[in-house]
Amino acid sequence: MTANIKSGSSRSSSPRTLSPQSVRCHKFAPSGRVLWTFVGSEGDHLVDDEVQYCSCSHFYYRVLGDKDSTCHHLESLKLAKVANSGATFAFDDSEYAPFLTALLGDLSKEYGLARDQSHESE
Ligand SMILES: [Zn+2]
Repeated sequence: MTANIKSGSSRSSSPRTLSPQSVRCHKFAPSGRVLWTFVGSEGDHLVDDEVQYCSCSHFYYRVLGDKDSTCHHLESLKLAKVANSGATFAFDDSEYAPFLTALLGDLSKEYGLARDQSHESE
């Protein structure tokens, strides 16, 4: 029954979860809104376990495509919350929109979703 092998002191992270150090909690005041991001090699990902959303390609293609139920960012975020780990950064509410815009702007480029916006009205 107890067949799981613990190979000494090597506490290497499982392939399904990420290091808690890559979790970042962005707290906005005074609204109290919180955004979670993962710092990855290919850029930051916006993760929200309350609405079950992640901006990574796995989530976009596999989870939204009904081929998987979650991604490793959401899994890791759950763990990080339980362990109360991850770095917290304080922001002002006025930075909320620019923060999201910058984050999602990057991502939309990554997915080729950037809208062809004309700047006529600006
Ligand atoms: Zn993800």
